[in-house]
Amino acid sequence: MLQRKYIFPNVIELNVQAGHLIGCNVYLVHDKEDWALIDVGYHESVDEIVELIRDLDFRLSKCKTLIATHADVDHCQGLAKLKQVLRTTVTAHPKAASLLESGDRLQTFAEIHAQGISEEMPPVTVEVHVNDGDIIQIGSIELKVWSTPGHADSQLAFQMNDLLFSGDNIYRDGGVGAIDAHHGSDIPSFIQSLKRIRDSEVKWLLPSHGPYFRKDAAMIDKTLQRLDSYLHLSDFGTCAIDWPLIEQWEQEIAEGNLPS
Ligand SMILES: [Zn+2]
Repeated sequence: MLQRKYIFPNVIELNVQAGHLIGCNVYLVHDKEDWALIDVGYHESVDEIVELIRDLDFRLSKCKTLIATHADVDHCQGLAKLKQVLRTTVTAHPKAASLLESGDRLQTFAEIHAQGISEEMPPVTVEVHVNDGDIIQIGSIELKVWSTPGHADSQLAFQMNDLLFSGDNIYRDGGVGAIDAHHGSDIPSFIQSLKRIRDSEVKWLLPSHGPYFRKDAAMIDKTLQRLDSYLHLSDFGTCAIDWPLIEQWEQEIAEGNLPS
């Protein structure tokens, strides 16, 4: 048996456990022998993940469910294969469920033709739909479901006491999950989600990419200021709510002023 490297009581992160980068963060949450995973990563990582879980002495039959933070390819491509191995259920937001069940490749970033990105997205049935306020039970552990739209309209986070499995809401460097209109990103919602995280009782953020970190209101405020500026700039196209420069331009034209 492999020595379990807990990052918090009842929480193992499989990249940390492996000692090398497998892919997106894969959190194993367990109460005694019952366990669940939050995100699974790419199809090609599934064999390593299964071997790791076996070596940690968890029984594959005790997997309660596979939880998706949202439907993106780098978080969910391996769901279909892993579900088959574990004979368990998949848990996701209803909007993520429809993408996962249809094997959508555009909104999940599996297909970005202009960048030569073309990944498979094997369809997978989602048995359990969850939304804000729902509880996911793993043994006696309760994961409280938060709907945190912004990066994606189906983005979820999961609270376990003072920990928040925070998905693609915010990373340790203050960056956020990609903002892309075709992906269902929405900046006003993103701002609300980040304010909710900032103002909550949670102390630790466990994101879907990169290191976990202590929640820092000042750092989140800096990110919020950046996102707020995007609302009035062209950087993310139709994700902005207005563009003051064009109003200014319109006025200058009307006044007959030449650009100076
Ligand atoms: Zn992601």
